[in-house]
Order: sequence, then C-alpha cells, then structure tokens
Amino acid sequence: MADAPLEGQVISANEADPFQETFRTLQDMLRQSLNHGLIPRLDGYPDLKEEAQEIFRLSETARKLQDWQSMAKQFRALLVRVELIGANEEGMKQDLLRLLKLLVDNISELVAEDQWLRGQIAVVQTIISSPLERALIQDAEKSLKEVIYKQGVLKHSLTEAKNAFKNMVATFVDRLGSVYDSTGTYQGKIESYADQLSEIDDIAQINALLENLMQDTNTMQTDIVRSREALLEQRDQVDLSEEKIRKLEAELSQLSEQVRMDQLTGVFNRRGLDDAFVREIARAQRGGGQLSVVLIDIDNFKRLNDTYGHDVGDSALKHLAKVMKEVVRPTDVVARFGGEEFVILLPDTLLDQAVVTISRLQRALTKQFFLGNNERLLITFSAGVALLKADEEQAVALHRADQAMYLAKKSGKNRVMTENDLG
Ligand code: GH3
Ligand code: MG
Ligand code: MG
Repeated sequence: MADAPLEGQVISANEADPFQETFRTLQDMLRQSLNHGLIPRLDGYPDLKEEAQEIFRLSETARKLQDWQSMAKQFRALLVRVELIGANEEGMKQDLLRLLKLLVDNISELVAEDQWLRGQIAVVQTIISSPLERALIQDAEKSLKEVIYKQGVLKHSLTEAKNAFKNMVATFVDRLGSVYDSTGTYQGKIESYADQLSEIDDIAQINALLENLMQDTNTMQTDIVRSREALLEQRDQVDLSEEKIRKLEAELSQLSEQVRMDQLTGVFNRRGLDDAFVREIARAQRGGGQLSVVLIDIDNFKRLNDTYGHDVGDSALKHLAKVMKEVVRPTDVVARFGGEEFVILLPDTLLDQAVVTISRLQRALTKQFFLGNNERLLITFSAGVALLKADEEQAVALHRADQAMYLAKKSGKNRVMTENDLG
C-alpha cells in the first residue's frame, strides 16, 4: 500500500491508521517549516513569500492526491527560486563584507595616530576575517559606532586645532609685519604670507608655509642683526669721529692761538702782532681812525737778569705784560716783539693820547711793584710812539716808533718819545 492508498483518494486528517498518523505528522512539520522557517526568511521577497503562504494554505486544505501533487510541484519550483536567492544573498553578503573591510581599512588609515581607535578597528577586522557570528557582528557594529563617534569628535577638534594653529600663524605674521614694518624690504613678503594663509585650508600646506616663513624670518633676523650691528658700529665710528674732530678742532684752535701767543707772557707774539696789525690797519683805513704804534724796551734788563737770574727776568717780563694788559683798553693790542721789547697798538688814538696811556702805564708800574727774589723791584722802560699814516706799511710805522724809543733811551731812559720828537 505504498502508493495505492493515496491514489485517487481524499486523504482524511482524521484517519486513525499509522500511515495516516505519520502523514499527518509530516504534514504538520511541513506547515511549521513553512510558517516558522521559510516564510519569515522571505521578508525581502514579497512574491516568493506570497507563494510560500499559498503553499502553506494548500498544505492545510489539500485533500486529494492531485492537490498534493500539484502543491509538491509548486513547492519544488519555489525551492529552486529560494535556492537562487540564497546564492544571491551569499554573494551579496561577501560583497558587503568586502565593502566593510575596505571601509574599516580606510578608517584605520585615517585615524592611524589614535591608539584607542586602532584597537577598536582591529576588533572589527578580526570579526569580519573569520566566519560570521551574530554576536560577533553585533560587537563589531558597536565598535564601529564608537569609532564613528570618536572620529567625529576627533575631526571636530582637529578642525579646531587647525583653526587655532592658523590663527596663531596669522597673529605671528601680523606681529612680524608690524615689527618689520619700518624695514620695508620684507613688508611685501609678509603681506604675501598673510594672503596665502587666508586661503589655506590644509594643515600640511600651513606647515609648508610656516617652514618658508621660518626660513625667511631667519634671513630677516640675520639681516636685522647684521644691519643693527652695522648701524651700531657706524654710530660708534661717528661718535669716535665726532670726538676726534672736536679734539682736533680744539687742538687746532689752541694751536692757532698758541701760534699767535707768546708762551711766557700770554700776550701776542710777533705773528699775532702781524695779524693784529693787518686787521687794525684795515680798520683804520676803512673807518678813517688813527692808529698809534708804541714800541717799549725795558731799561737795563740785562742787569736785572744778571743780578737776579734769568727766571726772575722772565717773571719781570710776565709782570710787565700783565700790567700793560690792565692799563690799556680791551680793544688795544699788546704784543711781545722779541726779548724785552713790546709793541702796543692803540686804535683810534692820536700820538698825544697814546703818550698819556703809556705814561699811565709807567705810573702803574710804580704802584704795582715787581717782586723779584723777595725784593720790590721797579721796572722801567723807554717807549717810542708813531702814528700810522694812510697806506703805510706796519714796518715803516714801527721803524719810526723804534727811532723814537731809541731817542728815549738816549735821552736818559724811563720816558716816552714820539716820532714828532725825532725832528
Ligand atoms: P737797555 O736799557 O739799553 O735796553 O739795556 P738792556 O740791558 O735792556 O739792553 P739789551 O737790550 O742789550 O739787553 C736785553 C737783555 O734782555 C738781553 C737778554 O739776555 C735779555 N733777554 C732777552 N729776552 C729775554 C727773555 O726772554 N728772558 C730773559 N730773562 N731775558 C731776556
Ligand atoms: Mg732791548
Ligand atoms: Mg732793554
């Protein structure tokens, strides 16, 4: 009764023989397989699911052998299609796995610096490289979610860090700009850096820019230090030169004074007298004034030297010069003509007035004694006075004065004679 009982018969669910019982058990198992096994797995395939549900319904209502036969045929067709889907799903699963692997590998490259993220990603990589298990996949999903969150945070702080860095560099460039504003040379360069910086969005580019900037800054700094040193050196040299020039000028003016002054008495020497003479002659000719020329020769000076010594003689010369300066006007010129001879130029002074002045000098010498060797010594002199004539050379006037002086000596010394006395 292997085939016969079903042939052309209605299969009743209520038959009590073992075959029927076994059949009903199998029928039940088929229905359960359909309901809990196949149908739920066909969620993504509505038409196949519909088909399976149809078979499920048929498995309940089928009574005749033909029904079962047609249902079996339908089922076989469904299973072929499900099998195809399975193959397809497996391929899709492999594809997805490959995609996931690629993604994970890329993430691990992206966040290579972060040890924690590296660890999480390693977990995911291990899971997907071995046969899949749901629990492991769920773990991997959790890990990935954390990775994605952490990466979001990292990306945010990276952007912040990048911006902060950019701002820092911008501030640096700004300050550098103002520091080197005055130099001008680097101003263009600094501005170009500032422009570049405002356009940059990549940290690597900023680094490259910063490196260039540092190099330029070093050059600038070296230049600045160098020019500062050069400036300081120049300033020192200028200071030195200024000091040298001042010293030289002082020396020169001192020298030029010395050249015109008698070192012993402090009055003009022969050269000083010459200059003064030229000046006074020019002045007299210009202003029509009268210039008296006085030649003075100390009386018996040789004796003074011989009695008291040369140094006392020197002091006597100094004393006379001092008294002469005190007696004459500031505009008068006192000069040592040589030895114990002096010349006095009296601008705007006629012969008589000149004689008055020289007489005053004689009187002054009687009041201001010369102290030689603790002795009050009287210095006397003989003087000759001449009046400068128009267009006359100084030597000519001096010669007349000398003649008058010689006359004074001859006349007994300690007196004043004029050219008018020469006769
Ligand atoms: P006289 O009254 O005739 O002028 O007599 P005197 O002694 O002044 O005659 P003289 O002109 O011959 O002598 C001048 C002396 O002055 C000679 C010289 O030794 C001295 N004499 C010249 N120059 C200096 C000097 O700079 N210092 C000193 N101490 N003596 C000088
Ligand atoms: Mg003399
Ligand atoms: Mg003399």
